[in-house]
Amino acid sequence: MIYDCIVIGMGISGISAAIYLKNGGLNILMLEKEAPGGLLNKINKINNYPGYAETTGPELSYKVFESVEALEIPYKLEEVVDISLADNLKIVKTNKDTYKTKYIVIASGRNPRKLNIENEKELTGKGVSTCAICDGSLYKGQDIAIVGGGNSALEEAIYLSKLVNKIYLIHRRDTFRAEQSLVNKVKKQANIEILYNSNVTKINSTNDILESIEVNNERTITVKGLFVYVGFESNTGYLKNLNITNESGNILVNAEGETQVDGIYAAGDAIQKDLYQLVTGASEGAIAAVNIIKDINQKENA
Ligand code: NAP
Repeated sequence: MIYDCIVIGMGISGISAAIYLKNGGLNILMLEKEAPGGLLNKINKINNYPGYAETTGPELSYKVFESVEALEIPYKLEEVVDISLADNLKIVKTNKDTYKTKYIVIASGRNPRKLNIENEKELTGKGVSTCAICDGSLYKGQDIAIVGGGNSALEEAIYLSKLVNKIYLIHRRDTFRAEQSLVNKVKKQANIEILYNSNVTKINSTNDILESIEVNNERTITVKGLFVYVGFESNTGYLKNLNITNESGNILVNAEGETQVDGIYAAGDAIQKDLYQLVTGASEGAIAAVNIIKDINQKENA
C-alpha cells in the first residue's frame, strides 16, 4: 500500500497534523516509538494551553489522543530508523517494517539533553532522572538536586518542592534563563537552595544507587535524586541521510513547514524555531498538513 502521508511522532504536533490530514480525506499512518503524547507525558503542570486554565501533561496527552481515536487515525508503535527517497515516493523504514508514502510530516520532537558526566547513564533510573512527574514521588521527604536554569528546571523545582524535603537547584550561571515569574516563585520557596555558578562534576553511588553529587569539584552534597533539566536535543539522528537539519540537529523548514526535500514537512520541537511551546507545536502541525493538502490539490489540478 502507498500512503498519502506518514506522520512521524504522536506528540501534540504530529497529532495536530494528523487531524487535519485525516479531515482532508488523506490515507495516513502515524508512527510513534514510545507512547502517544511524547514529551507531554513528562510535563507536570500546564497553564498556557488555551482551553485549560491548568492541567497536567498526561491529562492533555490523553485528551489529544482522544482525537486519534475519534477520527480513527491508524497508528503503529514503531521506531523510524531511516527515510529514503525512491522515484516520487518516500520509503520509511522502522524497527519492524517498511512503508511507502507520498508525503511525510516529521514531528518526532526532542529528547532531554544529558550532562554527559561519568555515571549519569548508569544511574539513570537509579537516582538520576529527567522526569519529575514520573519519578518525583520516589523522593518524598528526601533531599534532591536539580540541574538547569531554564523554564523546565524551575517549573519542576516548584513541583518537586511540594514533595521532597530539600532541593539544591544547581545552575551554571548567576542568572536564570527561565521566565521571571518562575524565578520569583523559586526564590520564595523555603526548601529550595540555589547554587549559582555551579556545575555537577561527579555523581557518586553505592551499590549502583545514587548517593551524592560533587559540585565544582569541591563540595559533596548527599542527595537521593538528581533531576537533569538542561534543555533538549532534537530527535533527528535517523534523518542524517536527508541533509535537512542544521548543526544543532534541528530541521530547517520554510513558512509552509516544508523541508528542502520535496514532500517532506516537519513541525514541533524537532524544527529550528524561536518558540518551543505546545501551542506553536500544534499550530506547526496544522500548517504542514494544510500545505500538504494544498500541494496535492495543486498537482491534481495542474
Ligand atoms: P532551556 O531553556 O534550553 O534551558 C536549559 C538550561 O540548562 C539553561 O539554563 C542552560 O544554561 C542549562 N544547561 C544547558 N546545558 C547545560 C550543561 N551541560 N550543564 C549545565 N547546565 C546546562 O531548556 P528548558 O528549560 O528545557 O526549555 C526548553 C524550551 O521549552 C524553552 O524554549 C522553554 O521556554 C520551553 N518551555 C516552556 C515552558 C512554559 O512555557 N511554561 C515550560 C518548559 C519549557 P544557560 O542558561 O547557561 O544556557
